[in-house]
Amino acid sequence: MQTFKGKVIIAGAGPGDPGLVTIKTALALQQADVILTDRLVNREIIEQFAKPDAQVIEVGKQGGKLHSTPQVTINQLLVKYAATDRLVVRLKGGDVSVFANVLDELETLVLHNIPFDIIPGITAASGAAAYAGIPLTARNYSTSVRFLTYYHSEVIPVKTWKQLARTEDTLVFYMSAQSLHELSAQLIRYGMDVTMPLAIVEQATTPAQRVHLIRLDEAQTINVEEVRTPALMIIGKVAALHAQFGWFKATNSGTEAFRELPPQVISSTLKQFVS
Ligand code: SAH
Repeated sequence: MQTFKGKVIIAGAGPGDPGLVTIKTALALQQADVILTDRLVNREIIEQFAKPDAQVIEVGKQGGKLHSTPQVTINQLLVKYAATDRLVVRLKGGDVSVFANVLDELETLVLHNIPFDIIPGITAASGAAAYAGIPLTARNYSTSVRFLTYYHSEVIPVKTWKQLARTEDTLVFYMSAQSLHELSAQLIRYGMDVTMPLAIVEQATTPAQRVHLIRLDEAQTINVEEVRTPALMIIGKVAALHAQFGWFKATNSGTEAFRELPPQVISSTLKQFVS
């Protein structure tokens, strides 16, 4: 068995289903002494693979929700634990190189001469596409796919909106559920066909997965407060294929799949190490 020791492994945990964790990430988790995990990592993955005595610290930042941990604190924790000659796994949702804020952490590791490995994961777009039955570049529908985010108005300049509105590419928007109304309004304003299919895939690959397949001009009717996050938007002709090929039967559709660790565990551990 491959052994890792005295280093940091930055690993992708996939989009939620524990079966979508790579063998390499599972092996790293089995050996990890310390696991620094994002909030968007399904707790079952840690329960299933980590040693019972592994120290698990939640450093989630997504959505600015409860227990938001500043990046500088995460960097400090990485350095502190790596200095103890233990195996530290930094577990991130999905893939480590897609909207994962990994650069800061890599720079910190290099700065402190801490050895590291990077293990990829299945990104949410791939997970959602598979479990919603939406081939992202289906022949005769689309020849390419773009991963984007739109969480406030500065992120996409007008020139880009014009391009996006006219493209044949499949568009996958991460971290944008709250901006759905503005996002669809902008695409329509700059000329996208109002009947363009749009799939909102909530909590993809988990038993709570839910898919809303609508037209672009129906987006305004969705109450964004009721969209269960994490959620992705897939916009493009391929989204319509969900109606025919959606195969996954969620058993708890619309419930909350991503649990948080008990707050006392997180805050006492953080207090101990960040002073
Ligand atoms: N590194 C991650 C993305 C982190 S950004 C990856 O590669 O997947 C967080 C965003 O990812 C969320 O706002 C949401 O848009 C998306 N996301 C993550 N997990 C998801 C899931 N299970 N279902 C739907 N969207 C998900």
